Amino acid sequence: MANRAAHLIFAVASMLLTAAGTGTAQRSATRASAPDPYPVATDTRLGGDDTQTRFVVDLSRKIDLRVFTLADPYRVVLDLPQVTFKLPAKTGETGRGLVKAYRFGLVMQGGSRIVLDVGKPVRIEKAFVLDATEGQPARLVLDLAAVDRETFMRTLALENARPMRAPDRSQYDRDANKGDPRPIVVIDPGHGGIDHGTRAAGGDITEKALVLEFALILRDQLEKTGKYRVVMTRTDDTFVPLGERMRMARTRQAALFISVHADALRKSEGEAQGATVYTVSDTASDSEAARLAENENRADVISGIDLSHEPGDVADILIDLAQRETKTFSLHFAKTLVTELRNVARLHKHPLKSAGFKVLRAPDVPSVLLELGYVSNKEDLKQLTSGAWRARTATSIAQAVDTFFNTRLAGAAAGAR
Ligand SMILES: [Zn+2]
Repeated sequence: MANRAAHLIFAVASMLLTAAGTGTAQRSATRASAPDPYPVATDTRLGGDDTQTRFVVDLSRKIDLRVFTLADPYRVVLDLPQVTFKLPAKTGETGRGLVKAYRFGLVMQGGSRIVLDVGKPVRIEKAFVLDATEGQPARLVLDLAAVDRETFMRTLALENARPMRAPDRSQYDRDANKGDPRPIVVIDPGHGGIDHGTRAAGGDITEKALVLEFALILRDQLEKTGKYRVVMTRTDDTFVPLGERMRMARTRQAALFISVHADALRKSEGEAQGATVYTVSDTASDSEAARLAENENRADVISGIDLSHEPGDVADILIDLAQRETKTFSLHFAKTLVTELRNVARLHKHPLKSAGFKVLRAPDVPSVLLELGYVSNKEDLKQLTSGAWRARTATSIAQAVDTFFNTRLAGAAAGAR
């Protein structure tokens, strides 16, 4: 049996490694004009079946590699030094054998990652990187074999897979000006790095880029007022886990958390347009909100975060009490935001919704998630990419933030009287 497996792997290996040669000369010719500071991934291949699968990545030079598996859902994660991915469009969207699909991208400065979704439990048989040889690029080779869940879980425990550590963000806390009484507003541009979010224009326009550009404009608008300290969960194309975004708001004792996104519908799901403001709730306000929360909550799965140690929903009574007040404030800001946005942006026909968004679960920070519009809608996309639309929408959000804090302070003063 072991022999047969080895033979199969060998057959697949020869096939894949031979196929690797073609087209290499052409690719290096086009690359020669602009040398990349990082190793470049130029092609990928999958071979085998649902008992044995080989994954190969062509690289411009040899790199280090760390591989581990994750459960629920089953994934194989390859951690690499920072790599530039110059791969054909739609790479990874479909799989073969044990691999259903895969994604790749930056997870932190200096670190890239490839995450393979596997349909069932697997064992990593081999994982290595070959030096370039004459006419052949350097190649990363990963061999996977199907195993039963029990074996998979046992290996997982033994592997002691170190889940990716979130980038060190303690400087945010050190930078905090403790004597500054101004409220902290956290702006959270969704997705980033390996997690692209929704896409448009055949993949050229990504949600992660759109919402970052918008969030930076919003930050500038809020800072210009001089009334707030603004903290960004990211300012570049880096992946930040959902829990980390929420923690950043909590450790800074933020007064408001605004997560910025852009939705998309598949053709089969119909047409929708306009901005929507979401708050957190245990049960979704409608099926569209449920679908969206499920998509947005997938960010960690997509990026190969180990979710098995995450605490479940905390049923602590104190948290529940804090949450009630937080929920009231969240809803108050959401309503204010919808009122302001109505003047400058197209709104969804039901612009105020709720669902179980992980990123909004801070029990002590009023939080909303703003879907600016649908990248799948032509008119929305035009606005989302328009400088004028971005500027006036950011202004109206800043106005909503003002109103929120003014009425909140007025409410507190009235209560004290
Ligand atoms: Zn999103």
